[in-house]
Amino acid sequence: MVEMKDVKVVYQSSDTVALDGVSMSIAEGEFVFLVGPSGSGKTTVMKLITGEIRADAGQIVVNDFNMRTIRRRKLPKMRRTIGAIFQDYRLIENMNVYDNVAFAMRVVGAPNREIRKRVPYVLELVGLEGREKRMPNELSGGEQQRVAIARALALKPEILCFDEPTSALDPELTKEVLDVIRDLAGSGITMVVVTHELSFAKDVSSKAVFMDGGLIIEQGDSKDFFRSPKEERTREFLKMN
Ligand code: ADP
Repeated sequence: MVEMKDVKVVYQSSDTVALDGVSMSIAEGEFVFLVGPSGSGKTTVMKLITGEIRADAGQIVVNDFNMRTIRRRKLPKMRRTIGAIFQDYRLIENMNVYDNVAFAMRVVGAPNREIRKRVPYVLELVGLEGREKRMPNELSGGEQQRVAIARALALKPEILCFDEPTSALDPELTKEVLDVIRDLAGSGITMVVVTHELSFAKDVSSKAVFMDGGLIIEQGDSKDFFRSPKEERTREFLKMN
């Protein structure tokens, strides 16, 4: 669950107001697409949710943690409720697929019994059964990204965050990864996805949030959003992309 109210973020180093009063709520089980031009603030929203940065003003609550007041030492506990998948998936190069996922569970203290049960389960969810023994450099980019998704799923996060999960992949591998995301969308897990793949977003039943210039311009059911956007800026964006 995410609740943001009038959230502002200023990057001092570039003197940029990245978010200029953003309010949104993401309910449990909701599937949300964040779309908008480059520089509109989408990644900043993701970084707020994962606790990588802090808001300068406003209120933000993520999975019952108040992100404005949370203590640094509480952050690891909070982060365990979030699975984050970025374009650079950072697998451990000298561990095979199975161990990459198992290691993530071991780090958070999962018992061996549970690891043995859950790793095969999540690898199957992302379509990687039979690939357990492969090393990361023996996998396609799409498969590597699916290992990253499996690793996140293994920890049973309350929210999965995807920040442009396919932007480093060619069209065919992009489809592989989007298919996995589409399957997960039906599983009831809360997901927030930043993507430029508008036709994918259009296709999957979800909520769409359109950002521009650090503001939310429009948000709503993705079907309505793509079929009949209300705001002129949304229409322009959809026409151009
Ligand atoms: P998007 O994900 O929509 O492309 P971002 O949230 O990455 O947008 O960026 C929003 C604005 O903040 C942009 O103008 C960007 O240049 C600026 N920005 C993002 N990250 C940083 C940073 N670490 N330091 C300084 N400025 C940043």
